[in-house]
Amino acid sequence: MSESNQDCIECGGATHPIRVVEQDHQRHDTLKYTAIDAKPSWFLGRFPVQGHLTAELCESCGHVTFRAVPKEQGGG
Ligand SMILES: [Zn+2]
Repeated sequence: MSESNQDCIECGGATHPIRVVEQDHQRHDTLKYTAIDAKPSWFLGRFPVQGHLTAELCESCGHVTFRAVPKEQGGG
């Protein structure tokens, strides 16, 4: 997995990685993703996570690019 930054697809500006978190009073989690038609598990009540999302923020225009990291590559 490459850590190299890419230029913004909107304006060509420099981007840097950000961490996108879901946060409430008790906890904070990195955002995850699942299939569009996935259903929560009847047993655990949770969606079957396919991986997590990383993001890069453009310093110039604020555009955020998401990238999926599948479970098999350490996401999830
Ligand atoms: Zn930009």
